[in-house]
Amino acid sequence: MIESAPKARPPIYRGRFAPSPTGPLHFGSLVAAVGSYLEARNREGEWLVRVEDLDPPRVVPGAAGDILRTLEACGMRWDGEIIYQSVRNDAYHAALHELRQRGVVYPCACSRREIADRAVSGIEGYVYPGTCRSGLPAGRTARALRLDTRGAQIEFEDALQGRISQNLETEIGDFAVYRANHVFAYQLAVVVDDAEQGVTDVVRGADLLDSTPRQIHLQRLLGLPAPRYMHFPVAVNESGEKLSKQTLASPVDALRPVPALARVLRFLGQQPPAELERVDIDAFWQWAFENWNAARVPRVRTLRVMGDE
Ligand code: GLU
Repeated sequence: MIESAPKARPPIYRGRFAPSPTGPLHFGSLVAAVGSYLEARNREGEWLVRVEDLDPPRVVPGAAGDILRTLEACGMRWDGEIIYQSVRNDAYHAALHELRQRGVVYPCACSRREIADRAVSGIEGYVYPGTCRSGLPAGRTARALRLDTRGAQIEFEDALQGRISQNLETEIGDFAVYRANHVFAYQLAVVVDDAEQGVTDVVRGADLLDSTPRQIHLQRLLGLPAPRYMHFPVAVNESGEKLSKQTLASPVDALRPVPALARVLRFLGQQPPAELERVDIDAFWQWAFENWNAARVPRVRTLRVMGDE
């Protein structure tokens, strides 16, 4: 008789870093990478990397490889295969099909301009006024597919930011799950991928805190497990702008990554000794693994970084 192989136990903790390849890794994205990595290793969990190259016009050729090489140069080792969103349209399609079957998605013909003319502002741009909810106006063709958010009040506990409560209908509005440029929306893709990869813990920047209720809503509609969430403060410059390619944040120096890694630790409320900027990469991680304490991370949404980071 053949004995059945013991079932692999699901991991207790599986985290991930999900960069969009829109440019080189800079201080802001390094915070999400290092924080999610330390949290995963500290919990003896796995850490996956997913390249979010979903939206062709935003993808910069070569940026994904550059980010991955910088992570390696930083001494960070991921588990398993990297997945690329650009080859996962079938999975997103299946999820969209499921939402359509449930009758919670509808075609929308409105242009940005038409929405702007009728809508009120919410916490992230305009709240869609519901124009196409009960059917497309005569003679119009669908540009996007939207999720009907009526009655969706979402609450969750963020490990750092506390209890978050959002009324999707009034604060965000019916959001696109398939966009006018024929691209699946980030909100849908991220939910499908986190479930596919068995992610138990999403650790990322608080710029995505307001997206989380949309993702939880989609998880519920699709019958997917809900990960735990931890949102770090987002690094902003002196003018309060998020550090990004647009604000010309400088790329992490892959030849000399330790000073940037040490600054990330300081940014995340850890107290590395000054010499840590000058040690080698192994000594850096040894200190970081031994001393990482998520309870020290400031419980704010944004945090200023000084100087050239
Ligand atoms: N790709 C997103 C970004 O780079 C992150 C998505 C996520 O962590 O859920 O901002």
